Amino acid sequence: QFSDVPVVGQVGYIEVNTAFQNDVSPLKVDLIYGTFRSEDGSIYLLPVVKRAENMVVNDTLNHDYLSPTGIEGFSKSACRLLLGDIEKLWNDGKVFGVQSIGGTGALKIGAEFLSRHMNCTTVYYPDPSWEMHGAVFSFSGFQNKIQYRYMNRETLEIDFEGLCEDISNAPVDSVVILHACGHNPTGLDLSKEQWRTIAEIMKERKLIPFFDIAYQGMASGDIEEDTWAIRHFHSEGFEFLCAQSFSKMFTMYNERVGNLTIVQKSGHNIGSLKVHIERIVRSLYSSPSNHGAMAVFQILSNPELYDEWSSSFKAMAARMIELRKAFRKALEEEGAFRKWNHITDQKGMFILLHLTDNQVEYLRNFHHIYMVNSGRVNVTGLNFTNISYVAKAIIDTLRK
Ligand code: PLP
Repeated sequence: QFSDVPVVGQVGYIEVNTAFQNDVSPLKVDLIYGTFRSEDGSIYLLPVVKRAENMVVNDTLNHDYLSPTGIEGFSKSACRLLLGDIEKLWNDGKVFGVQSIGGTGALKIGAEFLSRHMNCTTVYYPDPSWEMHGAVFSFSGFQNKIQYRYMNRETLEIDFEGLCEDISNAPVDSVVILHACGHNPTGLDLSKEQWRTIAEIMKERKLIPFFDIAYQGMASGDIEEDTWAIRHFHSEGFEFLCAQSFSKMFTMYNERVGNLTIVQKSGHNIGSLKVHIERIVRSLYSSPSNHGAMAVFQILSNPELYDEWSSSFKAMAARMIELRKAFRKALEEEGAFRKWNHITDQKGMFILLHLTDNQVEYLRNFHHIYMVNSGRVNVTGLNFTNISYVAKAIIDTLRK
């Protein structure tokens, strides 16, 4: 009977968000999801996206099905955004892309492919990482989910020695998830030197890189610079997968736009590879939807829209940097007993305050401030109205 299904509660982001929605206090502050907020707290929509969406609506003549792999031009533009000029590689079948339901969908298609067709059973992902990595892979049959050391919780810096040691011990054909930039939740990115070392270890150990890029352009403020690690692995001759999310880059969260890029050494089997991917998609959701991907495709393929879009990253990144500085200053003014330099050292959308579960709960119950485990803060949930309130509350919590 259905009633025999074990009782469970909500967890993670969903649980925190439900509690936030139910809180009637006018003081409440939402630092939960990674959605880009304006100064007034509303969810920002890039004007260029709105323009592109209107163009798509005007151009739509019917709502015919897309193919399981989606809009080819969109996927090709997405791959280009990652790897630069791919014309020849695309024609040779060495690079190809599949439109997906957000970045999560790209991870899912990739996990299914690796499990079914590469017989992979082990996945490594960072400790800490975005909360869905483990779940997506275990639902796709990966029996071994192992977290490699990423952040030293004492120093709040990258534990590079631990990271290297852990992946050096990974069995051949393990899949290793790598955040290409704007690491979620720590905001700590590897240096180019560190990426080079990781590529050497992975090559030696015959590991399969699976990049996850959800914040391209939002870590360094430069779209190309943020793909450096991926391009380095490519230049080193790796075969790899990359899940791209366009949710944050285009401020389009509910249109679920993403792409899975597959890079292989030889293109001779490209036809079969596509059929396998098509079958996976057919069994998951048959085919993707059109509107959001088409709007992204408009922007990526129209030079005028592209320029407007790519320059808007500079403003978004600048706002995040400004908020980081102001937040650090507010915390330092409230209480100097802890170092806050990590707030301005980290990059991207998230600040990891590294709080205990009790502290996160205290902030929620006594100050109406909502964030996910370990004290991960969406930096754009802060604004010049609430920043000092949040800083005071955090200091109060730490003093308890
Ligand atoms: N990967 C990382 C690292 C993320 O932070 C997120 C979203 O927060 C995703 C993937 C999923 O992106 P999407 O919402 O497009 O599925």
